[in-house]
Amino acid sequence: MIVRPVKCLQDKQSKATAAVDPVEPEHVLKAMESYPDYKLSMILTTHHHWDHAGGNPKLLNELPAGITCYGGSSQVDGVTNILKGGETIQLGDLTIKTLSTTGHTMDHICYYIDKQDDRAVFTGDCLFSSGCGRFFEGTPKDMWSAFSKLLELPNDTKVYFGHEYTISNLKFAHHVEPDNKDIQAKLKWAKQVEITTPSTIENEKLTNPFLRVDLPQVAKLIDSNPNASVTDILGKLRKMKDNF
Ligand SMILES: [Zn+2]
Repeated sequence: MIVRPVKCLQDKQSKATAAVDPVEPEHVLKAMESYPDYKLSMILTTHHHWDHAGGNPKLLNELPAGITCYGGSSQVDGVTNILKGGETIQLGDLTIKTLSTTGHTMDHICYYIDKQDDRAVFTGDCLFSSGCGRFFEGTPKDMWSAFSKLLELPNDTKVYFGHEYTISNLKFAHHVEPDNKDIQAKLKWAKQVEITTPSTIENEKLTNPFLRVDLPQVAKLIDSNPNASVTDILGKLRKMKDNF
């Protein structure tokens, strides 16, 4: 059995819906059948990689003309509106804030929604549950700047990430921080539930080694040089994961 969470953001009042990285348009359209009152009115793309943006042209073809497709560069398939980060997008009553989070790609955008006590961020391949995307186009400095923006979000923000790599991420996290009890407990839980989305910013602060490289007790486990910078340590940690 394969369970694929379909990432859709819906505004209860206006019934407007945004599809986030709808790489398999047929699954999005199928999911929308369960919400006959709702209308798909925009596409939010986190970055140009085919496994995120590749479904945009097909989905746009299936929908009425005039649907907005957001993305961070012209490399995003089907893009109609190019974002730089820092913009706000209105989906009915929901205000979506865009965050430029370069590093995995240089056009990576995270989408943050804060409605009263209901907060969520869609992190694509920037941040995963207890892990992060590879630094394909950017530097550790770019990635740390992206993580810093996510770390500023309220602790109860739900994190919807681009890939379910949580168990392997936690095995690596445990390798880096063998005494971290939160990582041990999350690994045990993840093996039971299999689908771990969403996480929260608070949980990521406790279990994601890539967000913890600025903590002295974590930094010294990665690099024995006490003068190493946060970005040096982050780069080293990413190389360790790439070879894990
Ligand atoms: Zn990617």
